[in-house]
Amino acid sequence: MRIRNLSGSVVRTELWRELAEHFGLGQTLPLRSHPQWQRVYKHLTNRTLTLTINRRSKRNMKDGPVTSARYSFGRISLFPCPRCTTAFLTHSFLHGLSRAWLDQYHEDLTLRTDLDAFFDEFADRTFAILGGKRPSDMKCWKCKLPKVIGRSRIRNLKAFAERFRNADSTTVDRLIDESSRRAGTPINGDSVPHNR
Ligand SMILES: [Zn+2]
Repeated sequence: MRIRNLSGSVVRTELWRELAEHFGLGQTLPLRSHPQWQRVYKHLTNRTLTLTINRRSKRNMKDGPVTSARYSFGRISLFPCPRCTTAFLTHSFLHGLSRAWLDQYHEDLTLRTDLDAFFDEFADRTFAILGGKRPSDMKCWKCKLPKVIGRSRIRNLKAFAERFRNADSTTVDRLIDESSRRAGTPINGDSVPHNR
């Protein structure tokens, strides 16, 4: 993974690389060798996942809620505000990582219209496994993450990531359904919300 940090903030480079590795995104992007996609990827400069953390000055607190992460063609972009903590950036990175993972391993499912709840859960659960704490008011400057991630947490993370890596598209499709149901959002374009 290539990391470009223009924000001036301290970022958890080592941890983030490890996270990308656990979810199978540490090496050459899988879609680069996919028959249907290699022609598109051939023209891109990034062989591996690329992460850009943009300048804080580009974003003002008045800009409204922080966009957690943008993703396209193997590139994740983060847009921190002046008060974002490293912990919050880690959560945002996980959001981007979830998008990258789905795109690179289950590209056919990215056409679904109800993916937000799945991405949110992926980021939230991984962040919680790492010992991260998010305040209920979701303020980015109150987010916390332990400086050292203990061995048992890393073990749990590996087990969690492995479930994703071993899942086939039918299973992932079901996981997305479940996330949407929990969030009470319409499942893949259905007009009736599927509340529990
Ligand atoms: Zn912020």
